[in-house]
Amino acid sequence: MKKTVLLIIPLLFLFIGCEDEQEKDCGGVEGGNNICGCTDSTATNYDSTATFNVGCEYDIEPPSSIYRYPLDEYSVIQEFGNINYEFNQKYHSAEDSDGSAGTPVYAVAGGEISYSGTMGGYGWLITIDHPGADVYSLYGHLSTEQPKVTLGEVQMGDVIAYIADDDEDGSGGGYPDWGPHLHFSIRQGSRYDYPDSGDSRWMAGYTYVHPTEIGWLDPTDFIEGHSQ
Ligand SMILES: [Zn+2]
Repeated sequence: MKKTVLLIIPLLFLFIGCEDEQEKDCGGVEGGNNICGCTDSTATNYDSTATFNVGCEYDIEPPSSIYRYPLDEYSVIQEFGNINYEFNQKYHSAEDSDGSAGTPVYAVAGGEISYSGTMGGYGWLITIDHPGADVYSLYGHLSTEQPKVTLGEVQMGDVIAYIADDDEDGSGGGYPDWGPHLHFSIRQGSRYDYPDSGDSRWMAGYTYVHPTEIGWLDPTDFIEGHSQ
């Protein structure tokens, strides 16, 4: 008898936990058409019909040193460290990847959301701190209207947001020939290690000094060095 009770109690918590999770991620979308499930094909409960990622389960947690690209089709259209003449000849501290509006954006590794909100010039911006590798990842030009993760922990491969269309990417019509894309950065430390203003600010997209001098890393090099 005692054994049965001990088994039932944790199971009850498990069910309650699952329901809460679903309401938080999917219930809040007005008239949403999301099919909630696990969208990470490496998870044991992968659901190929799911459009919004919740509750992935793994046989073994992905190690914190393993990273993936933030898009299924990552295609760089502006390099890291590129000198951009449209931005006062400043250096690009990220890579821009081509991607159509509505493309899902994934957490590149497990970590903690350290910012998720609007930010001038970016539309919606998300940063994730990855204490395991002592870096943070940054994702700009995300959709303000589609679902996005706003706080808490994420696993590698969780959908955190979707690429913005031209009207909501923060450009205010100022980047007429760019089209929807993801601005993606990796930087040493936590985003809380950096100031809110100045060349070293935590959300900088362009910098006066070469970005490697102030902790920004080449995203492709970093991910290639931390893939399986
Ligand atoms: Zn960019």
